[in-house]
Amino acid sequence: MIEIFPWQTEQMQRLLLMHQQNRLPHALLFSGPRGIGLKRFALVFVMRTLCLSNNGQLEIACGHCKSCELFKGKSHPDLKFIEPEENGKMVKVNQIRELIEYVSFKSFSADTKIAIIKSADTMNRSTANALLKTLEEPPAQSKLILLSHYPSKLPITIRSRCQRIDFKPAYSESATAWLSEKLEHSKICPNLLLRLAGGGPLKAIELANEDYLPYRHELLEDLDLLGKENSDPVKIAKHWNEFGAENTVSWLMRIISDLVRLKLCPKKANIMNLDLREDLQGLSNRLDLLKLIRGYEFILLKYKELGGAMNYSPQSILEEITLFWKNYDDSTLKS
Ligand SMILES: [Zn+2]
Repeated sequence: MIEIFPWQTEQMQRLLLMHQQNRLPHALLFSGPRGIGLKRFALVFVMRTLCLSNNGQLEIACGHCKSCELFKGKSHPDLKFIEPEENGKMVKVNQIRELIEYVSFKSFSADTKIAIIKSADTMNRSTANALLKTLEEPPAQSKLILLSHYPSKLPITIRSRCQRIDFKPAYSESATAWLSEKLEHSKICPNLLLRLAGGGPLKAIELANEDYLPYRHELLEDLDLLGKENSDPVKIAKHWNEFGAENTVSWLMRIISDLVRLKLCPKKANIMNLDLREDLQGLSNRLDLLKLIRGYEFILLKYKELGGAMNYSPQSILEEITLFWKNYDDSTLKS
């Protein structure tokens, strides 16, 4: 039986109350940082909504009625779940067309038919437009649930037709306790992981299992090296590319934003890379505040290019970053 995560109880109570009072809107938008568990939350909620055991007090689905059985077998005819076919790709227009056709038919068992769209913000304009018509004139029994880590990327026309349920970064005690239990055998501090993960506990677990934490040391060294005359920006970019451009750039953003924080307020800076404070402070002392801020803005721009519709070469984006980082000093020295 699937359950919600401990940091999601408030949102669930709110939704179940709406459900009991028959006030559930046709379209909901669940949003929150990566690794907050939006999919699990949506599935638990849908299972409860479709459950046929008619006990208004029941907070979770019964788990043994016909509907729950179908749900557990992943074959409930009144639930459709769509997501990008590949990681990092878009939800496509033909998937949305299928969904529209699906919700336009009467439900099979309960009185609702639910469709969940994961990573809804990956829809391009024409895909979003196709969905918009259904949001404007929803079939009577249909409920749409959109999941998004970046709701601001959704067209305002879509957003304005959905009721939002927001999940804040989970830094609560319940989230830390949950994470500590999951990471019983890890040497890394749960608080550090949670910070690096931007408040997404599931993302924090991923981080604990990846090799990227030691990679941060290399990135720090490279940033330091790029400030020196004999460094080779192309070679460094090549090395970064081995770890994946998107990963590198997102780690660079975390590191550089910490450097800015330490520059602005060395004693009290609320940094993400808690374990690197000393090294970060050292590098931050050697760098110019303006360079750090411009560098951060530049990397943010490049991060958007990497995730954007244009197919830039990852290597060339990384080279732009290393060159920017190297030459910024030169230009300031000349001026
Ligand atoms: Zn049930």
